[in-house]
Amino acid sequence: NGKAAAAAAGGGLVVPEIRFTKLFINGEFVDAVSGKSFETRDPRTGEVLAHVAEADKDDVDRAVVAAREAFEHGKWPRMSGYERGRLMNKLADLMEEHADELAALDGADAGKLLLLGKIIDIPSAVQMLRYYAGAADKIHGESLRVAGKYQGYTLKEPIGVVGIITPWNFPTMMFFLKVSPALAAGCTVVVKPAEQTPLSALYYAHLAKLAGIPDGVINVVPGFGPTAGAAITSHMDVDSVTFTGSTEIGRTIMEASARSNLKMVSLELGGKSPMMIFDDADVDMAVNLSKLAIFYNKGEICVAGSRVYVQEGIYDEYVKKAVEAAKNWKVGDPFDATTNMGPQVDKVQFERVLKYIEIGKREGATLLTGGKPAGDKGYYIEPTIFADVKEDMQIAQEEIFGPVMSLMKFKTVDEVIQKANCSKYGLAAGIITKNLDIANRVSRSVKAGTVWVNCYFAFDPDAPFGGYKMSGFGRDQGMLALDKYLQVKSVITALPDSPW
Ligand code: NAD
Repeated sequence: NGKAAAAAAGGGLVVPEIRFTKLFINGEFVDAVSGKSFETRDPRTGEVLAHVAEADKDDVDRAVVAAREAFEHGKWPRMSGYERGRLMNKLADLMEEHADELAALDGADAGKLLLLGKIIDIPSAVQMLRYYAGAADKIHGESLRVAGKYQGYTLKEPIGVVGIITPWNFPTMMFFLKVSPALAAGCTVVVKPAEQTPLSALYYAHLAKLAGIPDGVINVVPGFGPTAGAAITSHMDVDSVTFTGSTEIGRTIMEASARSNLKMVSLELGGKSPMMIFDDADVDMAVNLSKLAIFYNKGEICVAGSRVYVQEGIYDEYVKKAVEAAKNWKVGDPFDATTNMGPQVDKVQFERVLKYIEIGKREGATLLTGGKPAGDKGYYIEPTIFADVKEDMQIAQEEIFGPVMSLMKFKTVDEVIQKANCSKYGLAAGIITKNLDIANRVSRSVKAGTVWVNCYFAFDPDAPFGGYKMSGFGRDQGMLALDKYLQVKSVITALPDSPW
């Protein structure tokens, strides 16, 4: 049983009893039609944490029917924005009440640091929910300047049934990044959380019910991508799909939309974000920020600053200090408060990261530190830094999604702009300098959806977030994100008796 396995995993934390392991459809926890279930594992030990009902096409069909019914005939899209916001705020209250348990649930399921879950993941998700709760009664159209004897206005209507497919690296944030604006808009949703981390989404479904969000509005169908995920993306009765995950699967999702009902698609995909450190930077501060940018959440973060460009004047000092910082970055049990970095999420990712480390060596990059598993149990990897990386190396081009920094030296501002943009991705970029002209010029030149100057990972619900190039399209966060969940209808009325 889940609790026993979790307790055996140890680490000084009491993993909460895992109460919700079935699909959540139309306000009820139910078994999969097939009766099948799958394992979710604790990455600290590789042991089974829980068996979770495995959704497939039939279950997705049931969930879409429930979501459609709730959308076409239910209260949710018809209640006032204020009332929707009130219920969303109630859900946020319940999350705050259960914050410790929720952080522990993601901690055990994804190997995330418990402390950071408590102070970052859960509070940020709550903030996201409250931001959109506040937006729910501020969604409105425009009056139009229509020539001739007509009057025109736009109506913003909820788009309908939204399919939401999320990755495993931030199970809670990803859920609320998409569910919050969808709810504010008046949509109903079918969520497929990542198969590696299905537990917290089921818990949120339970809390949503307690908060009074009507049955059928939120449905959660854990399962695998090619089955449950594909059933959502190719469904003829899903109006929109919003996805966060890899670029490769993003492509598959667009194809599925094209082949089915041309549902609206928005994609938040991979990244290979450059961190640019200029000669005038405070080196200690630069080391600290760039270390966080790649080693935070074990590098399992789409905006990880995985390509680090350091100007030649401070390069040697930077290298010395960065290596020291990596060596001091404590790898260990995510439930231990002194740990900086837990294990990779699962065996697949663990092996993938190690494979890239081998590729880096083979390509001729210099391994400065790390480069192998940490410990002999679980999926831990040492913080790793490669120097002398060239733009065309695989470790400079491909997303590793692990604690591996690729370090490069540059001379001029023009050169670093050109190199930073030498990527198929365009999700984020970091700039460290005290020179305002450099900061402004590089911010405007770099092709990335988010630019952080003298900071990194500074997220806010009001700051639109998404990618350029093959990092996807569409934006999460901000009032802009509501557009993904709304249709715009122009209403034009003849005014035969208009005086002008
Ligand atoms: P993934 O693309 O393999 O899986 C993401 C989700 O898609 C999972 O729920 C999976 O089950 C589902 N899926 C897989 N195949 C599918 C299919 N054929 N049809 C429908 N759904 C399918 O990605 P991952 O390995 O879980 O996550 C890591 C990736 O996510 C990285 O590339 C990372 O950069 C990206 N990511 C991006 C952002 C962002 O905001 N841009 C945020 C976090 C992670």
